[in-house]
Amino acid sequence: MHLDTNKSLECTYEQAVSVSKVRYQHGCAIDPTTTRLVNDVCTPYAADLIMKQLSVAYQFTQTATVNIVESEAFVSFDGTNFCAVDCSRMVCNCVFNNTTKLPCKHVFVYRAQSQMSMFTADLIAQRWRKPVIASTATPTTSQCEAFAFTTPRTDILSKTDKTDWLLMSQNS
Ligand SMILES: [Zn+2]
Repeated sequence: MHLDTNKSLECTYEQAVSVSKVRYQHGCAIDPTTTRLVNDVCTPYAADLIMKQLSVAYQFTQTATVNIVESEAFVSFDGTNFCAVDCSRMVCNCVFNNTTKLPCKHVFVYRAQSQMSMFTADLIAQRWRKPVIASTATPTTSQCEAFAFTTPRTDILSKTDKTDWLLMSQNS
């Protein structure tokens, strides 16, 4: 049906626009090296979510509380509600981390306060990574983006799910 095609095209377009907005807004606050790395490794949708988490983490790195007990870091932004980060697996018990399996603001704050690099590729599960383009393809800078946006995706949620996630991540 044409309807379905149009719908998904529209959705893809909106995603592209929202990602470019996020990149623009956060480009100055988050260091360019980290921004580039996130966008190089992750699908646009995952990069969007991660940049939001990074942005919060950068904002509160100095004021957030991090209590390390054995192999867990208990991270709080308000001094009351703590989330537990597994320091070796970089997994957190917050809603965002549990639902997306992406590094959350708690993981980033722990890494920042522990003098670790904020972002490395091994934080990202395979399903959120950009597809590898066949070596026979002619490499162009725009091809990577075009490929990511036109290939049928199975790892993207509906807009409703996306909104729910963002709400949950803000409340956690
Ligand atoms: Zn978390």
